[in-house]
Amino acid sequence: MQTEKKDIRALSKDQLRDFFVVNNDKAFRGNQVYEWLWSKGAHHFEDMTNISKETRAMLEGNFVINHIKVDTMQRSEDGTVKNAVRLHDGLVVESVLIPTNTRTTACVSSQVGCSLDCNFCATAKLKRMRNLEPAEIYDQVIAIDKESRLYYNHPLSNIVFMGMGEPLMNYNNVIKAIDMITSNDGLGMSPKRITVSTSGVPKMIKKLADDEVKFKLAVSLHSAIDEIRSRIMPFSANFPLTELRESLEYWYKKTKSKITYEYVVWKDINDNTASIDALVKFCKHVPCKVNLIEYNPIDDGEFQQASEQSINAYIKALEANDIVAKVRRSRGKDIDAACGQLANKEA
Ligand code: SAH
Repeated sequence: MQTEKKDIRALSKDQLRDFFVVNNDKAFRGNQVYEWLWSKGAHHFEDMTNISKETRAMLEGNFVINHIKVDTMQRSEDGTVKNAVRLHDGLVVESVLIPTNTRTTACVSSQVGCSLDCNFCATAKLKRMRNLEPAEIYDQVIAIDKESRLYYNHPLSNIVFMGMGEPLMNYNNVIKAIDMITSNDGLGMSPKRITVSTSGVPKMIKKLADDEVKFKLAVSLHSAIDEIRSRIMPFSANFPLTELRESLEYWYKKTKSKITYEYVVWKDINDNTASIDALVKFCKHVPCKVNLIEYNPIDDGEFQQASEQSINAYIKALEANDIVAKVRRSRGKDIDAACGQLANKEA
């Protein structure tokens, strides 16, 4: 039986350079192979045409290149594209391309399933099976960039980590993937065009600040009242809002980057004055804006979108306090590609 070979893309550029030196070649060979693997997106060693046949065979003997495969691609009436992405071990995650008039945004997954347990989210029902590797996150972006060029005639303009999984529970791999996406060895995209969305893990938000990341942060708040929040997002009982708030204050102090709060208004849950007041108060601590996300029903019907009137009450209160609030209509609902609907239904 063959022993399992290592994915060559788990090696950093320096590690790859060292590998060639140890194997009696030049460090520079490492740069060439690295370029093939990342910026040229080679799927096979034999594609690396400026590398000698012997060297390619040697690489083949030592490593594999674990590329993702877009299994099925669905296109919504509104132009949204959803990819079911098969990983080398057969597991599947989903990523979404969201076009608007001025930009195309990739919504990518960071875990297979999710570590957390938000009651309103279809992905949470899958449980976490494993974390994605940096290359598996990077490949989702590359696949969507290709689709963006093909269908919309321009490269991908933005990336949001709002697909399956909790990015801050796969911290190192998400950071490595973003380093590759922003590096000139990879896509060379500006970190300002990337948003990481978290359900709010205070310790990891502080770590982001300490690591001086340059991308944007979004927090899925949904309630600024502990008792309600821990009912709809049970894990958050471990992270009281005061702790979350302190971590966000810390983030802002270090990064000077505004936070986006994601917030769904549900009937009989947070469509009341106490919830509105609590949100307004919470928003005053750190410069921010609020995205009011339309609810996308998942199968069990426990949650229902609040009335237009309740949403308007939120907007009015936030605006009266000079807090920018936007209503985000969902895209790709007909193909289960909207927020919280990613659940591998086709897999
Ligand atoms: N785990 C991360 C990113 C994934 S979810 C996070 O929690 O932020 C992306 C966004 O969709 C989050 O704001 C999440 O709360 C929201 N969401 C989840 N289920 C939803 C649903 N059924 N309808 C609308 N938004 C939902």
